[in-house]
Amino acid sequence: MTTHTLPGDDDQTLTALSDSAHDYLRRVDHRARVRALRNSEPSFGRDYWRGMADAGWLSALVSEEDGGLGLGLRAAAQLGIAVGAHLLPEPFVAAGVHPALTLNSTPAGELRSWLLSGLTEGALLMGCAWQQSPGQLDPRPGPVRLQEEGAQCFLSGETRFVEPGAGVDGWLVFAVAGGEATLAWVARDAPGVSVNCERRVDGALWAAVRLDHVRIPRHNCVARGDAASAALGKGIEGARLIQAAELLGLGRRALSMTLDYVKARTQFGRPIGSFQALQHRLVDAKIQVELAAASLEDALRDSSDARRLTELASRAKARAASSALAATRLAIQLHGAIGYTDACDIGLYFKRALALNASLGTALQHRRRYLDHAVAPSGQNAVSLPPNVDELDWEQLSEPQVRAVVRRFLDSNYPKALRHLPRNAYWHEVRSWYATLCRKGWNAPAWPKAYGGMGLSAAKMMAFHEEMMSYGVARWVDIAVEMLGPLLINFGTEEQRRTYLPRILTGEHVWCQGYSEPNAGSDLVSLRTTAEFHGEHFKVNGRKIWTSYAQEATHIFMLVRTDRTAKPAAGISFLLVDMQTPGIRVNPIEDLRGDAPFCELTFDDVPVPVANLVGELHQGWSIAKALLGFERLFIGSPAPVAHAMVQLRTLARERRLSEDPAFRARFAELELDLADLNALYNRFADILRRGQPVSADISMLKVYSTETWQRVAAFLSEAADESGACLESPSVNGEELQLLPPTFNSLPSTIYGGSSEIQRNILARQVLGLPA
Ligand SMILES: Cc1cc2nc3c(=O)[nH]c(=O)nc-3n(C[C@H](O)[C@H](O)[C@H](O)COP(=O)(O)OP(=O)(O)OC[C@H]3O[C@@H](n4cnc5c(N)ncnc54)[C@H](O)[C@@H]3O)c2cc1C
Repeated sequence: MTTHTLPGDDDQTLTALSDSAHDYLRRVDHRARVRALRNSEPSFGRDYWRGMADAGWLSALVSEEDGGLGLGLRAAAQLGIAVGAHLLPEPFVAAGVHPALTLNSTPAGELRSWLLSGLTEGALLMGCAWQQSPGQLDPRPGPVRLQEEGAQCFLSGETRFVEPGAGVDGWLVFAVAGGEATLAWVARDAPGVSVNCERRVDGALWAAVRLDHVRIPRHNCVARGDAASAALGKGIEGARLIQAAELLGLGRRALSMTLDYVKARTQFGRPIGSFQALQHRLVDAKIQVELAAASLEDALRDSSDARRLTELASRAKARAASSALAATRLAIQLHGAIGYTDACDIGLYFKRALALNASLGTALQHRRRYLDHAVAPSGQNAVSLPPNVDELDWEQLSEPQVRAVVRRFLDSNYPKALRHLPRNAYWHEVRSWYATLCRKGWNAPAWPKAYGGMGLSAAKMMAFHEEMMSYGVARWVDIAVEMLGPLLINFGTEEQRRTYLPRILTGEHVWCQGYSEPNAGSDLVSLRTTAEFHGEHFKVNGRKIWTSYAQEATHIFMLVRTDRTAKPAAGISFLLVDMQTPGIRVNPIEDLRGDAPFCELTFDDVPVPVANLVGELHQGWSIAKALLGFERLFIGSPAPVAHAMVQLRTLARERRLSEDPAFRARFAELELDLADLNALYNRFADILRRGQPVSADISMLKVYSTETWQRVAAFLSEAADESGACLESPSVNGEELQLLPPTFNSLPSTIYGGSSEIQRNILARQVLGLPA
């Protein structure tokens, strides 16, 4: 995962822009400049600002007709990331992005052209003055009044927290005249203008700009009425998005500086970066920063949807600010006392994060605002299906058509009683649904058609699964379709494929997965169940545990030790075993809910034909690892989290919980967590859609998704008061309101499929490169 750009930025122009921005900024030590310039007026360099203009930075957002480059918000975000990483003291967002976006949306006119050309050339440095009180997020009438007298206008009032605080040529001032909003250009040196600077924690300045009967010509009003409010609104939201990009660049850089430090700093005879406690904290900071990237990516993609701009900007700003603050605080902690000195650069990053968090609304405010403005995702646009759709091949359908076909089939065929089952289903419960899928030829989306599968491309397979999940189709031990089938197709013999694949498809064979043992859980390579070679057979002896739904399985695929002398991972083989073979005992184990979804298995001299070995002898470990990426994507699916959130929303509505500010604050946090989880999931799903292999960073998804599920579930049962501890689910409008089940369903999700701690170990070593 590149540390410079946003995910999905394959566009060569953007990558080139990002590279050139970093090259340009690298030529000067901006942290030294921040130290030298802090608290001076201005706290940045006009010469450097002009250099930025020459490099085209200030033209990026201005349209080509207006003499700019018309590169749009994505390009500005790349520049914002670079600005944050290098800690540029120049006010790129406040004096570049904000006025450019505001002016872009104002009506054409001479003054507008003059302002835009001054801005792009770097000759005119301006800010936007609209805020009256601390914490104000949107412009509202009040601070400045405009009085019109013939060809002249007079402005009176005060705006606060105006950026930049010093070194400007003027401002676009938001004023109100007789109830009508106006956006007026006021020069810094106009008589009646006075400026009072407030020192900001990062060394920059905010200004309180006071206007005492300031006279301006009438044509200085660049926009009026709704056009003025809309232009300023667009400017503010756009500025927030690029501020989020700046915070992302800042957070990523603080994290990478800290990683360098903990790899080099030695205590107790080893690099401190080898301590697991530190590794896990760094992984969590990394997850938050990458969530910020995914959230920003979402916002930029959909920012042209005016209905959603407020919500998207608030979401991106909230995540970027909280993650940058967390990353920089952690950075100070992990630098030890040095981190608390002024000489250490990390403090500059922390102070900038504090200032950016406070400017244009803190993370806390934006979480609340997100809740007020979140627009229910517009239902899927009606998709037209060709009349002969049932005769067409999947490849002839578009992705939305695939989704529509799946949904239509589910509407008419899926049993209502099995929808949104609050747990994984037993085979006997879903057998008949499986038979329906089988008749339709829909049980194996990913398998090639030659083996009876649907042969879907990666993108359509994701669409197929997503539709199933969002519809609430029960999950059962579909491990044979998801894991064993692809494994046999890749590593099995022709005979194994012929014997097993058709029987998986018809449901004649039901499989379970025998990996874990009493003394081999997280440390799976230490497994001890042996398979000794006896002529035509292996003889299997040992125990497997936590084998899900083994009591219903006809077969088990298992990892066994075939060489006790080799290194642990090198002596493991992969076997297929018929559960009817003499010598196998199955003992169901009761779980916390009083159910028995997993079992302990004993193998006592169990004969297994040599033909049941998959792949080469002793190569079982690499075979088992081959499909982990897909498994983590499916366990990382946001579907169960979304389902728990639906329960929480219903509970909030039924009990009017949203009137309680404490509930609202936590609820807003969880809504944002889910939205950003969706964004993170889509990022990995896109990689698979493109048919590319996923790397170790997919473990982030597993950790974040399962832990978010647990957080939502815990809050759900707590917010439900007594009902949160009742075994019976209440009914709301004929639907079961599941208050307690998500707690028990989510509980083991951080254990199975590789526990959260093991995933963090993987991320620490393979993604952050921390030492063992
Ligand atoms: C509901 C459920 C279904 C399951 N289904 C199956 C199945 O079908 N087939 C199958 O083979 N297995 C299955 N498992 C087993 C699962 O894979 C293991 O539980 C898992 O690998 C953890 O092993 P363990 O339980 O032995 O925990 P342990 O390995 O003993 O770990 C205990 C705790 O210590 C932590 N820990 C361990 N090592 C480290 C480390 N190096 N660093 C930091 N922390 C560490 C773990 O995260 C965990 O929290 C299932 C488990 C559950 C809960």
